[in-house]
Amino acid sequence: LMMLTKKLIEIRSILMSIDHNETLRLPSIVVIGSQSSGKSSVLEAIVGHEFLPKGSNMVTRRPIELTLIHTPNNDEEYGEFPQLGLGKIFDFKKVQKTLIDMNLAVSESECVSDKPIELRIYSPNVPDLTLIDLPGYIQISNRNQPESLKNKIEDLCEKYIRGPNIILAVCSANVDLANSPALKASRKWDPLGLRTIGVITKMDLVSPQAGAAILRNTDYPLHLGYIGVVCKAPENASNGNMTHALIKSEEAYFRSHLIFNQRDIQVGTSTLRHKLMNVLEQSMGRSLYSIVDAVQRELEEARYQFKVQYNDRKVTAESYVAETMDCLKHDFKDFANNFGKPQVRHEVRTMLEQKVLDICAEQYWCDEKIAELPKATPEDIYWLYKVDFASAALTKSGIGRSTTQLVVDVLMSNMERLANAESFSYHPDTRQQIMNFTSEILRTKFLATSDQVENTIKPYKFEVEINDTEWNEGVKRSVILLEKELEMCDEMAASIKNSVGKKKLKSAINYLLDSQREEARKQEKSRSLDFNNNNNNNRQSSHQQEEDDEEEVVKSFYNPKLLEKAKDAIYLRDRAMILKYRIAALKSRQCKSSENKQYCPEAFLNVIAEKLTYTAVMFIQVELLNEFFFQFPREVDNRLVYEMDRKQIQQFARENPPIQKHLELQERKTKLEEVMDKLNYLVKRQADRQSSSNSN
Ligand code: GDP
Repeated sequence: LMMLTKKLIEIRSILMSIDHNETLRLPSIVVIGSQSSGKSSVLEAIVGHEFLPKGSNMVTRRPIELTLIHTPNNDEEYGEFPQLGLGKIFDFKKVQKTLIDMNLAVSESECVSDKPIELRIYSPNVPDLTLIDLPGYIQISNRNQPESLKNKIEDLCEKYIRGPNIILAVCSANVDLANSPALKASRKWDPLGLRTIGVITKMDLVSPQAGAAILRNTDYPLHLGYIGVVCKAPENASNGNMTHALIKSEEAYFRSHLIFNQRDIQVGTSTLRHKLMNVLEQSMGRSLYSIVDAVQRELEEARYQFKVQYNDRKVTAESYVAETMDCLKHDFKDFANNFGKPQVRHEVRTMLEQKVLDICAEQYWCDEKIAELPKATPEDIYWLYKVDFASAALTKSGIGRSTTQLVVDVLMSNMERLANAESFSYHPDTRQQIMNFTSEILRTKFLATSDQVENTIKPYKFEVEINDTEWNEGVKRSVILLEKELEMCDEMAASIKNSVGKKKLKSAINYLLDSQREEARKQEKSRSLDFNNNNNNNRQSSHQQEEDDEEEVVKSFYNPKLLEKAKDAIYLRDRAMILKYRIAALKSRQCKSSENKQYCPEAFLNVIAEKLTYTAVMFIQVELLNEFFFQFPREVDNRLVYEMDRKQIQQFARENPPIQKHLELQERKTKLEEVMDKLNYLVKRQADRQSSSNSN
């Protein structure tokens, strides 16, 4: 018989998960009463376990949507919080603790929240029921429970006691019913008392005659009547199922007073349970056709939207994850195909060429004797040493580390580009994960690679053999490099000239050159003075003072920024001159053969750089690049695809708002279809029963 309730409770749970504006609601029993009326005790008696937060302070701050599921073929009793996903909780003390925590999560200032806590209890000892426990009414406001809180609770309760819900108004026998806020509220929304059940608690605290008078309800008649209960569990009742002990002592109490045996009086928790089941079943039955209509409407709307918005295209979280990862792997493959030896070589060559320029600048172009280099004799030890020293500066600069690091950096920045692709814009955590394991793979390869490279370039530290073609190529490349350098010098000089103005710059330059010459002359003089006598200290320092003052005046005339720029201009002019000079030298007969390498250090270093590049890239390719290209897609599978459980896959997909919307609508449609199937079955069954009872 109770099949209908059971099925509709199932349906109600499904609807609750998709319907947030409460248009698709099946009736439930809402429990209202003032604080300490015994509301919790009644609910616990129905469930058979102590599980509600209790105490003198108002502890129920949120409605509790309690779904009881009768499991006749299973001995297990447990609770579940579907919103929390904690799984089955067999210990009802833990259920109680969780409820307290969820209540306390409502801030003091908010006091009560209308966001319900969902709790399901499975047991062979509970009937199929849905109950909503609401915060108890405050009767007298005080400092801890101000008037505003009182009103807030009343508003919250009003929201729930509207039809088609059934109202369970809990009043204690020792308080005048005229003062019961529960009955007052129910009369407001159910004036004929058609869907209100009165529960009179603490029947043991009044005389049997007075108790019976209340239950006969002549003053405030209710269509569904009043039921008297005694819900005080005996002291010795412990952890296990308390219903038994409670019902026994309650039954004993009512049996001991004949007045409660009369037909027009209803007493006892078991009576209450049966009453609730019957009333809910009837109410559910009445709601069946209207909910069918409502679900049908919603389903049609969902189907229409799904067709219009997504052209009926199904998406799953799994397929979205797979697609996103495939996209990443595809982009990666593209990158890997286009980043081979030539690209790596280009990167390494560029870096080493820059190093060559730095060494040349430092060791040759700044050398005061550089102008004499072409005229030096072949045996001149100064230049012979210098070229060996310069080539050592290149080969012993830690080529293994620097070239490997360079390629790692290039790979990292490319991987960053891939991870920043649009498909990952909604998944910052995953993006971070990709970068993390990319750098992890590269880190594990780094040392082996840089050691390998360092080892294989070792011979070049001692001897470099050069054939004619290599030499000629080196000369050509170094001329190009120097020409580029010269171009840069000219550009920078031009931009200084533009920013300062030709005339102003020229005068600042002249001033600087003059004072440089003056400085040189002074140094010369003081050197000879020092040499001649050391006794004229006084005169010298006063002389110094005068000159400093003079300088002060001029300096304030030329602002320091301008002088700085003039200095740069002079430097660039000198550098350009040397470069032109060196380019000419490299193009001269002297640099036609590698025999004369000491005259053409730029070309010589360039040839070495090229050899280093070839060797380094060969090993970086094998040890680092190929390994990385092989391993990365596998790590994507291992760490992202296979590692995610169902929940993470869902979460990942829902990080993407359009996908989230798509999934939600699809889920809504599927669930409504499921609900519709179940409802159709129930409607058919009701019809069958109707026709069979008619034909009888
Ligand atoms: P709530 O605030 O409405 O949830 O009330 P409780 O269920 O916490 O009960 C308030 C107090 O009344 C508790 O101390 C209960 O033990 C006590 N109480 C509840 N029902 C009965 C009853 O039937 N008889 C007696 N004597 N005390 C009861």
